[in-house]
Amino acid sequence: MLIDGHGRTVNYLRISLTERCNFRCQYCMPEKPFSWVPKENLLTFEELFVFVKVAIDGGVNKIRLTGGEPLLRENLDGFIKMIHDYKPGIDLAITTNAYMLDSVAQRLKDAGLKRLNISLDSLKPDVKAKIAGKDVLAGVLRGIDKALEVGLGVKINMVPLKGINDGEILDIIDFCRERNIKVRFIEYMENEHAAGALVGMHGREILAKVKEGHYIKALGREGASPSFNYLLDGEYEFGLIDPHKHDFCESCNRIRLTAEGNLIPCLYFDEAMSIAESVKAGDIEGAADVLAQVLKDKPKENRWSEEEIEQREISKRAFYETGG
Ligand code: SAM
Ligand code: SF4
Repeated sequence: MLIDGHGRTVNYLRISLTERCNFRCQYCMPEKPFSWVPKENLLTFEELFVFVKVAIDGGVNKIRLTGGEPLLRENLDGFIKMIHDYKPGIDLAITTNAYMLDSVAQRLKDAGLKRLNISLDSLKPDVKAKIAGKDVLAGVLRGIDKALEVGLGVKINMVPLKGINDGEILDIIDFCRERNIKVRFIEYMENEHAAGALVGMHGREILAKVKEGHYIKALGREGASPSFNYLLDGEYEFGLIDPHKHDFCESCNRIRLTAEGNLIPCLYFDEAMSIAESVKAGDIEGAADVLAQVLKDKPKENRWSEEEIEQREISKRAFYETGG
């Protein structure tokens, strides 16, 4: 079992497979970054797999592949199969913008993928284009349909932004409810890489919008998930991820690995330790030592609390690097 310096059990590994992306979302990567990690510095799937085995053998039973856009990595289904064959019972998921999903959903499912989280911030083509930097809505919707058709589990992520898509919260709920899929509203997390003028909605404001059309009942957090669940009209469950409150850090169960091998203990902070050298050398003990050190130093909580944001302590970490 992996236990961090604050006594929390860590069983969840999120791997960012690339920081590159085919979208330029306002809250993540509005401009192409000044420089990408050179391709030769990216860990290969074989190298990543050395660490995946260390993590699974230590107690990780949930892995999410993210990015940047993970579907941009070639032979992704091959990597999924490697993980699935090593531990078939593992809870294996991807977070994607779904733009390229249509053509690969079946292959990913066949390789052992169980679930996808898909970002869908708007159902209006022009608003989606404003957020993502290009006209993508039709492709994203095709990807969602295909994932459902091949039998993959789907959850939708929406980041409500004031003056942009805040009027669509109920529309997204209707879209998800009709398809019997869960939506999770994510508070915008301020960071240095996002577009400067963005203003996110706080959880209480999101809930107030939902209450305009519906009756809701608080259900609580699902295990260590950062998502707080609500029951809408007594029958449909949706989630709210509210990092501006610290209570979800209390049960944090996750660590993050970047595409070049930096192991990151907390989404907010810059601190990281590299496993690249160890995995390139096939040094399992070395990788396990880095993991133990990162767990020991994992911060108690993030710094997105409302007071700290007002003091303009903005995270320097890029979401496209850590995978959110
Ligand atoms: N490209 C994939 C996608 O968009 O789903 C995976 C990577 S993306 C960084 C992972 C998640 O982080 C997405 O759901 C996205 O909406 C969310 N995200 C990115 N920047 C964010 C921010 N500043 N605040 C809140 N959520 C953010
Ligand atoms: Fe790309 Fe996802 Fe970031 Fe949007 S949120 S720019 S889709 S990595």
